[in-house]
Amino acid sequence: MPTRIAIVGAGVGGLMLAASLGENYQIDLFEHRSSLNGDGYGLNIQPNAISELAGLGLLSRLCSVGIQTRAHRYLSSDGQQIMEEPRGRFAGEVMPQLSILRRDLVSTLLSRLPSSCQIHTRDSVAIEDLERWERQSRKPYDLIAGADGINSVTRSYTVGPTALRDGGMTLYRGVADLPKMLDGETFILVTADNGCRLIAYPVSATIAKVGSSRINWVLLVPDSVTVGKSAALGNSQEAVRRKLRSLIGNWALGFLDVAAMIEKSPIIKSDRLRDRDPIDQWSRSRVVLLGDAAHPMYPIGAQGASQTIVDAACLAGAIKTKADPFDAITEFVSTRLPQTNKIVLANRKMNREELEHLGTTGSARFKKFHKTTSNYRQAVRDRPRPRSSWVGEDTIER
Ligand SMILES: Cc1cc2nc3c(=O)[nH]c(=O)nc-3n(C[C@H](O)[C@H](O)[C@H](O)COP(=O)(O)OP(=O)(O)OC[C@H]3O[C@@H](n4cnc5c(N)ncnc54)[C@H](O)[C@@H]3O)c2cc1C
Repeated sequence: MPTRIAIVGAGVGGLMLAASLGENYQIDLFEHRSSLNGDGYGLNIQPNAISELAGLGLLSRLCSVGIQTRAHRYLSSDGQQIMEEPRGRFAGEVMPQLSILRRDLVSTLLSRLPSSCQIHTRDSVAIEDLERWERQSRKPYDLIAGADGINSVTRSYTVGPTALRDGGMTLYRGVADLPKMLDGETFILVTADNGCRLIAYPVSATIAKVGSSRINWVLLVPDSVTVGKSAALGNSQEAVRRKLRSLIGNWALGFLDVAAMIEKSPIIKSDRLRDRDPIDQWSRSRVVLLGDAAHPMYPIGAQGASQTIVDAACLAGAIKTKADPFDAITEFVSTRLPQTNKIVLANRKMNREELEHLGTTGSARFKKFHKTTSNYRQAVRDRPRPRSSWVGEDTIER
C-alpha cells in the first residue's frame, strides 16, 4: 500500500511538497480557502529555492513569467544610491534569483501536482481532526505535513501556543504597472530618514516585453511615524492612499514616481511585521511542520517562501529515501530546523540594523549597509542539497 500523506494547507509549501513527492504516494491536500489561485502580489525567490524548482523541471516556465533579479540597489529617499549588489546568476550563482507573482508560482506548482493528489478545498483541518486521526487504531495517514502558514493550527497541535511577535510596523503592499523601472531587472530598497522603507521590484516578463514594469512594492512604516494619526485617518483604501502619500511626499527617486505607484495599485493590502521565536521541535508523533507554520519570519530578506520551498523539497526527499515516516521526519527536522532558525534571527537583526544606520551619511552609511548585507548573506548561506532527486535537466535562456 502506498504511503498515505495528508498535507494541511495548499500555499507555497503544501503545493511544493505535493509536487515534489510525485506519483507514488496517496496524498490528501486540505485547503480552507475555496480556490487555489495565489494572490496577485509578488515574491522574490532566492537561488537555493529556484534550484529546487528546477529539480522539478520548472525553471524555464518560471523564468518565462518572472524576472531574473540582476541586483539589489540601496538608496536614500532623495534618490542617492548607497550601494548596489549583484544577485543570482549575476553574482556568480548557478541559479537565478527570481521575482514573480505568487499566482504565477502557484499555477506553475499546480501544473506539477501528481494525479494521485486529492485536493480538498473549503476543508479546514482543526486540532480535533489531528487528535482524532492520532486516536484511530487504523491511522488514516502515515505522515501529516503542517503547511498551514503563520496562523498554523498544526503548530498549535504540535507545540502548543507560541506567541506572535509584533515587529512594531505595518507593511503596505501593492502591485502597479508603470514605465520601465531602471533596467527592468533591479530590486530597490529605499530608506527614508523617518524609518519608512520601500522595497520595489518588477515581477512580470509579459509586461517587460511591452517595455513597462509591473512593480511589486512593500512600504514598511514604523508605528513611531504614524503614532496617534492612523486611527483618525481610518482604514479605507482612500485613507490608506492618503496616509502613504503623506509619508512619501518629499521622496525624489527620479527613476520611479512613488506617488503614481501608490495611485495605480488597484488594492493596497496591509499586514503587521510579525514572526515567532524559533522553537527546537517541529513534530509530534506523525505530524510535522514546514514553512511559515514551522518558522514564520520577517519578510525582510525575502526568505520566507524560499525557505518554505526548500523545506518541502527536503521533506519529500526524506520521505522518498526513508522507509519509516518517523525516520523521514527526524531527518527532515534535523536538516532544516537549525538553518531556518538562524534565518529568523538574521532577519530580525537586519531589520534592526537597517534602521540603526539611518543616522549615518556618505561613506559611513555605505560601510554600515555593506557590513549588514554581507553578514546577512553569510548567515543565510546554506549548503546546496544534492541534485540526485532531480527529475530532469532544465535550462533557461537570458
Ligand atoms: C508582505 C510580505 C512580503 C513577502 N515577500 C516575500 C518574498 O519576497 N520572498 C519570500 O521568499 N517570502 C516572502 N514572504 C513570505 C512568504 O509569503 C511566506 O513565507 C510563504 O507564503 C510561506 O508559505 P507557506 O506555504 O508556509 O504558508 P502560506 O503561503 O501562508 O500557505 C498556507 C496555506 O494554508 C491554508 N490554511 C491555513 N490554515 C489551514 C487549515 N487549518 N486547514 C487547511 N488549510 C489551511 C491557507 O489558506 C494557505 O493557503 C512575504 C510575506 C509578506 C507578508
